[in-house]
Amino acid sequence: MEWIAGLMHAGTLLLVNALLAALSSALFFALYVGHSRVKRLRGVLLWALSYAAFAIGFGMLFLPAFQVDFPGLGLLGNLLIDAGAVLALLAVNVYLELPRRKLWVLFPVVVIALAETALVLAEGENLRHMVILGGALTSLLTVATGVAFWQCTDEAQRPVARLAAVFHFLWAAMLLVRMAWWIGQPAGFAGQDPTSTFGLLSRILLTWVITPSLLWMLTRQLDAELILHASQDPLTGVANRRVMWNEGQQRIAASHPRGASVAALMIDVDHFKSINDRWGHDAGDHVLVTITATLRRHIREKDVLARVGGEEFMVLLHQAEASATNEAAERLRQAVEKDTIILPSGAVLRCTISIGYCVSTRREQTWREVVIAADQALYAAKQAGRNRVVGSQ
Ligand code: GH3
Ligand code: MG
Ligand code: MG
Repeated sequence: MEWIAGLMHAGTLLLVNALLAALSSALFFALYVGHSRVKRLRGVLLWALSYAAFAIGFGMLFLPAFQVDFPGLGLLGNLLIDAGAVLALLAVNVYLELPRRKLWVLFPVVVIALAETALVLAEGENLRHMVILGGALTSLLTVATGVAFWQCTDEAQRPVARLAAVFHFLWAAMLLVRMAWWIGQPAGFAGQDPTSTFGLLSRILLTWVITPSLLWMLTRQLDAELILHASQDPLTGVANRRVMWNEGQQRIAASHPRGASVAALMIDVDHFKSINDRWGHDAGDHVLVTITATLRRHIREKDVLARVGGEEFMVLLHQAEASATNEAAERLRQAVEKDTIILPSGAVLRCTISIGYCVSTRREQTWREVVIAADQALYAAKQAGRNRVVGSQ
């Protein structure tokens, strides 16, 4: 049993806390350096810094075990742990992109930290006062961090964020119990305190749960970014060819049993090369972005718009009757024709599009056949003089 008592020794627990925090800090630093292009990385850097502050703070509290001690060491260690808690709150807020006003809790935190420092300077390190004030400060921060985790809106990350929130609330409850014990014991001293082992143990548990939770949330985040990169056209932000092909194949497969049809529009900007030649490639890009926005404004929510080539787009219509498809295509053509495009240089230009469409019939059994038919119709529209809509025959 002696070894258990040894393990439960405050010094050992402080050391384990410091090592766990240092390990977590190193992990988040590595993630930050290794994924420097991923969004919300500021949150990850703050997590790394938060754990670094915890590690150094716990490490300082552990120093007296090595006969290293100097006045203010305890206060400094505690303030570093408080700084770690502040950084953790900031990290979650930045990571989840919560509004800044949610950080109001930092004002009472600063006031309490100043009061704690003033008290230590005036009367020396009184453990009771430090536990009560430090506990108030840390529990405020911990509840605020828990609430921030609870507010995660991303469905993929929410279950784990909620788990992290619950563990923060438990840790805050533990801090309140510890404060209550010291408030009720005006003459208490360190050796008597039954809550410090429990406090340090639960802190280990918190790190042990939170670090994997955060890593899990980051993995989900990275997954989401990868899926986005694999499915989105980087210039215009609409779906790419891969999405259009998947969607088209699925709709064809779903339409067969119902005897329904699928309507696909193939759109190509007219004389786009001359726009590039005259105004430059960047202006060409700007024109593509503007045309995308116009197309997007004139389709329905359930229709799919994708950029499938340089200046080629496709639309998959939700409704697939032939006359409605012709009307929809005509609406898009007119919208682009009427649109005045203002280039960043201030120059103004107009451009037109040609559209070929195919409403699948029994002849077009596969998605490939629908695309080829729409492409042939587009070719016919170009041959007939451009700026027009042609349906497949
Ligand atoms: P048509 O009316 O017959 O379609 O003539 P066009 O000039 O539009 O057709 P063509 O296929 O000859 O030219 C397409 C041009 O689109 C050539 C290429 O340089 C340009 N292009 C392709 N991708 C991009 C891009 O991402 N940005 C810009 N600015 N231009 C692009
Ligand atoms: Mg083209
Ligand atoms: Mg073209």
